This record gives sequence, C-alpha cells and structure tokens, in this order.
Amino acid sequence: MNCPYDTTRLSFRGQLLCHEPMSLHTSLKVGGPADIFAIPEDADDLRQLLSWLGEQDIPWLPIGRGYNLLVRDKGIRGAVISLERFNRITAVGEGLITAEAGAENLSLVRFAQKMGLGGIGFISGIPGTIGGAIKMNAGAYGEGILERTDHLTLLRSGTIHDFRMDELDYGYRHLRLADGDIVLAATFRLDEREPHHTEEEIRKDTELRRTKHNVGYPSAGSFFKNPHGQAAWRLIDTAGMRGKNVGGAQVSEVHSNFLVNTGKATAQDFLDLAATIKNAVMTTSGVTLEEEVRIVGDI
Ligand SMILES: Cc1cc2nc3c(=O)[nH]c(=O)nc-3n(C[C@H](O)[C@H](O)[C@H](O)COP(=O)(O)OP(=O)(O)OC[C@H]3O[C@@H](n4cnc5c(N)ncnc54)[C@H](O)[C@@H]3O)c2cc1C
Repeated sequence: MNCPYDTTRLSFRGQLLCHEPMSLHTSLKVGGPADIFAIPEDADDLRQLLSWLGEQDIPWLPIGRGYNLLVRDKGIRGAVISLERFNRITAVGEGLITAEAGAENLSLVRFAQKMGLGGIGFISGIPGTIGGAIKMNAGAYGEGILERTDHLTLLRSGTIHDFRMDELDYGYRHLRLADGDIVLAATFRLDEREPHHTEEEIRKDTELRRTKHNVGYPSAGSFFKNPHGQAAWRLIDTAGMRGKNVGGAQVSEVHSNFLVNTGKATAQDFLDLAATIKNAVMTTSGVTLEEEVRIVGDI
C-alpha cells in the first residue's frame, strides 16, 4: 500500500514504514495502523524528519517500546517516531551517567553496576526505555526515576537543550513537557554502590514481579494511577471488578490493576472495560480513577 504522504522530498537514513499496525509495537497488542512509523538513525536524522513533518503539517508522537500505550483501533494519523536506535549509555563524570532515550532501563542499571554506582535498581524490572520512563516518571516502591535524574536533554523546536530538574514540572507518574519536546537523553546522579548490592536489588525486584505481576497475558502494567493514599487495585477489588471482562479485555485475576488481553481484545474493549471500572469504583468508593496508561490515536 502506498504511503499516505508524499515522501519524495524527505531525506532520511533511518527506517520508514507506512500503515504500520501499532499492535506490533505495544505490550497490550492492540491498536490500528500508524500512517508512518519512523526509526531515525541519529539526532540529525531525527531533525530532518521533524523538519519534513513540520513542512507537511503532519502530527507526530515519540514512543519507546509501547509498554504504557493504548492505541485506539483506528490507529494514528501522522507519524510515530521510535528512538530505539538512540541507545548509548556513557559515564560523563563522577557519579554521572547519561543514557540515550532508547536505552532499556535494565541496561542503565547494569551499566551503573559495572561502574560501582547504584540507587536506581528500582527501575530494573520496569519494561521499556529511558525516554518512556522519563516521560512517565516511572517508578516502584515509592521511588520515581526523575528523583535520580540530574538533567534532561530535550529536542525542542529543532534545537537541543539541557534542562535541570528544578526547571521542570513533574510528580507521580508525570512530567510536563512542552508540545513537541522529545527526550533525547537523561543524565543520572548516582551513589557509590557495591555491585553485589545492586545484584541483590535486581534479584528481589525480579522475584517480586514474578509473584505479583505474572498475569500470564499481555498487559501495560498498572492501568490506573494510585489515587493519593490509596491503592487502585484495592478500589477495583472492592468494586467487585476482579476477573470481569469486556470482549477480550479482562481485569486480571492475579492483579486487579492490570488489564490484560486474553487473546482477541480490541482497543475499544479496553476502553469500555476501563469506563466500567471507573463507574464501579466511583459508585462503591466515590473515587475517580485516572488512567496511567497513555491513550492515543483516532476516535
Ligand atoms: C508488566 C509491566 C510492568 C510494569 N511495571 C511498571 C512499574 O513498576 N512502574 C512503572 O512506572 N511502570 C510500569 N509499567 C509501565 C511501563 O513499563 C512504563 O510506563 C515504561 O516507562 C514505559 O516505557 P516505554 O519505553 O515502553 O514508553 P512508551 O509506552 O512507548 O511511551 C510512554 C509515554 O512516553 C512518551 N515517550 C516515550 N519516549 C519518549 C521520548 N523519547 N520523548 C518524549 N516522550 C516520549 C510516549 O509518547 C508516551 O506518552 C509496567 C508495564 C508492564 C507491561
């Protein structure tokens, strides 16, 4: 099938796919096609792409590995940009490590471990990339990745800028960026830590996730944010929603804040199930649940 946009004037060294099913790029395994799915080679390539998209007035969305994305069934008009080739991790000073946006979280933890640095073991089991983790302020056990971040390197309006964390607005599972900002890299300030301590942190995290998160089906992790001082899973349980389903989307029997794809779910099944859960929780507990998962795509 032809690309929906004329790409003849685009000079691009990376990979460009048209009508790419987003179900192949999200952990929930649902989502219609993106008009364009682009994987730039490096920052110059990304700039070329963004300038072409800007000239054509084509909207775009940066993604990591899609572990926190629910893409609607009609897909995404415009371009999805994957930074998977931006994956270098380098030591940049005493206690400072820079990871590019496409590097995996565990790779950062392992790199730091080899340098005798740590304090970021809580991200070792969080699936996804540094870019996704930064945008979501991903975390576990009461810690968030941005608390360990010294500064971010953002591409804003075609120019690369560094931002210290005190210049940015962030909190539980959110970082406010300007429209069009892309995280290129993050620099972390880490503590000296014996490698075996980090190994123990990774082992404990793996064990905990194996017992509590082993839901047996594709998911996006916690679907809803924990409301202040409360656990979303408990509110969902109290509302009697554990195990309930809409089509192929189901509230996991193992962890009731995980919504899973039992095989043939559509994005609409997930949206309908989420709406049912929110209504039930509002009725039983008077609490408004807010999605942690990012919902994108055409309605
Ligand atoms: C089994 C399982 C367990 C999980 N456990 C946890 C957990 O313990 N804690 C937790 O916080 N999360 C958890 N998650 C959710 C998910 O892993 C995290 O949110 C993760 O950080 C998403 O990373 P990603 O690279 O896949 O980002 P994506 O899902 O691809 O993107 C997430 C958001 O970030 C934006 N984004 C991505 N890259 C960039 C970039 N370079 N610049 C600007 N914006 C960007 C996207 O547009 C999107 O809005 C879990 C998920 C699963 C499936």
